[in-house]
Amino acid sequence: MTPVTTRSSTRLAAPAPGWTTATDVVVVGSGVAGLTTALRLRAAGLKVMVVTKAVLDDGSTRWAQGGIAAALGEGDSPEQHLDDTLVAGAGLCDEEAVRVLVTEGPAAVRRLIETGAAFDKDADGRILLTREGGHHRRRIAHAGGDATGAEISRALVEAVQADPHIEVIEHALVLDLLTDAKGRTAGLTLHVMGEGQRDGVGALHARAVVLATGGMGQVFSATTNPAVSTGDGVALALRAGAEVTDLEFVQFHPTVLWLGPDAEGQQPLISEAVRGEGAHLVDADEVRFMVGQHELAELAPRDIVAKGIMRRMRETGAEHMYLDGRHFGARMWEERFPTILASCRSHGIDPVTQLIPVAPAAHYASGGVRTDLRGHTSVSGLYACGEVACTGVHGANRLASNSLLEGLVFAERIAADILDRDAAGKLTPRHEDTSREVDRVPLLAPEARADIQRLMTRGVGVLRSAASMAEAAEGLAALTADPQSSAVTGKGEAPQVETWEATNLHLVAAALAAAARLREETRGCHWREDFPDRDDAGWQRHLISRQQDGVLTTTEEQQ
Ligand SMILES: Cc1cc2nc3c(=O)[nH]c(=O)nc-3n(C[C@H](O)[C@H](O)[C@H](O)COP(=O)(O)OP(=O)(O)OC[C@H]3O[C@@H](n4cnc5c(N)ncnc54)[C@H](O)[C@@H]3O)c2cc1C
Repeated sequence: MTPVTTRSSTRLAAPAPGWTTATDVVVVGSGVAGLTTALRLRAAGLKVMVVTKAVLDDGSTRWAQGGIAAALGEGDSPEQHLDDTLVAGAGLCDEEAVRVLVTEGPAAVRRLIETGAAFDKDADGRILLTREGGHHRRRIAHAGGDATGAEISRALVEAVQADPHIEVIEHALVLDLLTDAKGRTAGLTLHVMGEGQRDGVGALHARAVVLATGGMGQVFSATTNPAVSTGDGVALALRAGAEVTDLEFVQFHPTVLWLGPDAEGQQPLISEAVRGEGAHLVDADEVRFMVGQHELAELAPRDIVAKGIMRRMRETGAEHMYLDGRHFGARMWEERFPTILASCRSHGIDPVTQLIPVAPAAHYASGGVRTDLRGHTSVSGLYACGEVACTGVHGANRLASNSLLEGLVFAERIAADILDRDAAGKLTPRHEDTSREVDRVPLLAPEARADIQRLMTRGVGVLRSAASMAEAAEGLAALTADPQSSAVTGKGEAPQVETWEATNLHLVAAALAAAARLREETRGCHWREDFPDRDDAGWQRHLISRQQDGVLTTTEEQQ
């Protein structure tokens, strides 16, 4: 792990903090990663505060449908789960990290059940397990049929709310990290849409900060991610001087309900579990085009299926393909996939009698803030957990249903690390923020969000080439090049959540585009039209992005 950074950081333009508070550990975000960390820290007696952008259950966690992967079934083993994960990761997984995930996963799921999450079971009380793409075994535990994330979120939110010693601040947008003179974490700044003592921008001093801010799907026009997934944690980490890695590996989910060419924002997902239970992908002539492309056909890893769909769309000139689950019959749809059934019907499609139009959309960030196996980032006292982090378990492509598990397993590891450090007297003591001379980043207008999304979708989407990405990068640079342009907010205008979010999206998009341009090969979910082959000799390595003095650089990891 890289030692403590002392690089000079930048911060978002924001009013000076009007209020101050303090705690031992602040957890940013309230999905599976954040809430599990908070609960485990509290159980050991530390003072914890959870700050979250909207309400407690607003994040990707509650949208997860398919389930959580763990070797819980008869005949399955962590070793087999490891093998499947490494295959999906296309040569870039950190095998040690994957081993941690698959060996600690089953017990972490059992502890989640003890916390209150109820998974679907058979008549004998055994947890029902399904299959998803890339898994050679049935090992996906699910809840409420296809409402796994909602159940996990419910259980964790209830446990947090039942603990009077976990303080929660909702509607609080975290802006930037506070650091001491040695570059160590001293807390953070945040903007609270509250009232009374905690309203507007404040400073929260803490001995450790855990980023659990989720993904960055909103960088693209069409995504399965909710509106809060704007990559804030990655942007904050970059501004604080932390290392970010594997950003180019964005997983596009192959089967997202196609709602028309102009659909924007969060789109309904048709879980992989629907294919796991036997639904077929077909073109307009009802030909199963995935058969013969991969031994697992529709259940090949996601990048293969997304590419198969895109290829067929090109060949036939179609805007989407179809998923055929008509043979399930009404009862199976109602019992096994009630959420998806309702979602399709609300958009005028009845999967019991009709083909479901589907196309790929941005779904999951395999990369993020670089951490070691205990969640440390390259900034002392700053941890990252869940989708915002890059622990190394996903490599170039995440295996389906490994992300909820990653959030759980690494949250427990982070909590254990913080507690060990506290017990050893090593937890960085609370410091006043002394880095006063930071540069302030000018803010983008809220309207820039749609421009960024369009540029990224067109240039850095499922299919990428040097020309398409250069266009995106130029477009992104143009947004900030002219301080007088309408994309940059004028002096004197009070910043608002949308301006800070648009500015974060811009930084994350620029870093993602830079990494994708540099990687001249096709690997995992990074698909270059101009470099169609995987190139292990040249590219079996990670790309690291950093920001120093406001300048973003992306370099190859030194071997
Ligand atoms: C539709 C859908 C289906 C999925 N299905 C599955 C599945 O079946 N299995 C699986 O394993 N994975 C699935 N995933 C992925 C998985 O849900 C996520 O990777 C996982 O839930 C991420 O958890 P998290 O705790 O890291 O982040 P999230 O659950 O996204 O939570 C992030 C939190 O951070 C907060 N936040 C963000 N920025 C800030 C800020 N600046 N200040 C304060 N708070 C902030 C958000 O409000 C939110 O509370 C799915 C994802 C989606 C979108």
